[in-house]
Amino acid sequence: MSDDVELVLRSTRVITPGGTRAASVAVAAGKIVAVLPHEAEVPAGARLEDFGDDVLLPGLVDTHVHVNDPGRTEWEGFWTATRAAAAGGITTILDMPLNSLPPTTTVDHLRIKQDVARGKAHVDVGFWGGALPDNVKDLRPLHDAGVYGFKCFLSPSGVDEFPELDQEQLATSLAEITGFGGLMIVHAEDPHHLESAPQKNGPKYADFLASRPRDAENTAIENLIAQAKRLNARVHVLHLSSSDALPLIAAAKAEGVRITVESCPHYLTLTAEEVPDGASEFKCCPPIREAANQDLLWDALAAGTIDCIVSDHSPSTADLKTGDFATAWGGISSLQLGLPAIWTEARKRGHNLEEVTRWMSTAPAALAGLAAKGAIEAGRDADFAVLAPEETFTVDPAHLHHRNQVTAYAGKTLHGVVKSTWLRGTQIADHGTPTGPTGRLLERQN
Ligand SMILES: [Zn+2]
Repeated sequence: MSDDVELVLRSTRVITPGGTRAASVAVAAGKIVAVLPHEAEVPAGARLEDFGDDVLLPGLVDTHVHVNDPGRTEWEGFWTATRAAAAGGITTILDMPLNSLPPTTTVDHLRIKQDVARGKAHVDVGFWGGALPDNVKDLRPLHDAGVYGFKCFLSPSGVDEFPELDQEQLATSLAEITGFGGLMIVHAEDPHHLESAPQKNGPKYADFLASRPRDAENTAIENLIAQAKRLNARVHVLHLSSSDALPLIAAAKAEGVRITVESCPHYLTLTAEEVPDGASEFKCCPPIREAANQDLLWDALAAGTIDCIVSDHSPSTADLKTGDFATAWGGISSLQLGLPAIWTEARKRGHNLEEVTRWMSTAPAALAGLAAKGAIEAGRDADFAVLAPEETFTVDPAHLHHRNQVTAYAGKTLHGVVKSTWLRGTQIADHGTPTGPTGRLLERQN
């Protein structure tokens, strides 16, 4: 080991790109400089952190977080969101362009958000831009200013200041973004299917589910694939819920269409059958579907048709979760709970932590082009989560660092306790208690 090593992190179970092994990870100046044998000698002057049999995995990368700051800070904010992330083993988040005021749709707006985030970030924070019907001219400047790609909706977003694109506007924006090598990330629900679905107010989850049919997702994804193919555009499907769209996606990938897909802990661990009537903390769009649908989503993760699992953490105040599924705010809070929620279900289904690491760290980092994140190997940032995978805990909303302690996971007993989280070699959370803030604001490099 070289002389400038400051820190050595040791575990009998380190998850590396080459597999899980006993190792000592040497850190200098916030970077991993070597992954060494478990019993490697600790250099003079370096501190040893020995985690025993707890698992050392790369810090999670959550590319789908609605921080809502500034503008809707009663829903969330950079301070609270990044503390929740740190407590949950996440070391990098990318903030969605909408639900904040202003939305991230011009460079000026991006700078406003960065100014607000500065000094509050407990984890590293990057930003997505937004593609609106009237901001095509802003896309290139936003790309040059360091956003990681652009989000658009194909159906109403839920907030007036972030209108959706029709197919023609999508084509225009996609062509522009493709021209400078950018990425479009898409909320894929087709507005015509939503309009023609039965819309019923009230507390019944079945009515809400019927109002957001699978066909809305399937058609939007089919259209998106066609556009991506025609323009050779790079596109990403956000929060996939409908398993019916999987064959389309698999075929497109096999054909070489540049498409990636994410799903979220709620689609993968919660089912329509278990949502109590009136429990609008379970409302999100697209909706949580049936258990049989969920089985197919897991198969698609295993097959690589779905690339990543990210939170789509989209909180609101408790009063907006009205109990009426038609009018309640749609969005599920899970930033702090994503890793244990997914691990609990993954282990039941025979998946291991290497796969979970790929889905929740390596693949999201690759999606956004975060080359310093997503793996324990020399040259990457020294970002880690330390997990006791066999330990369990029961979700108590009072222990969440989210600004609003509303969660669909309340009372669930989950496997996987995050013992600590590390960002560039500095501990940023200890047994659920964040320290810091030492996060940085990230901008896309190249
Ligand atoms: Zn979202």
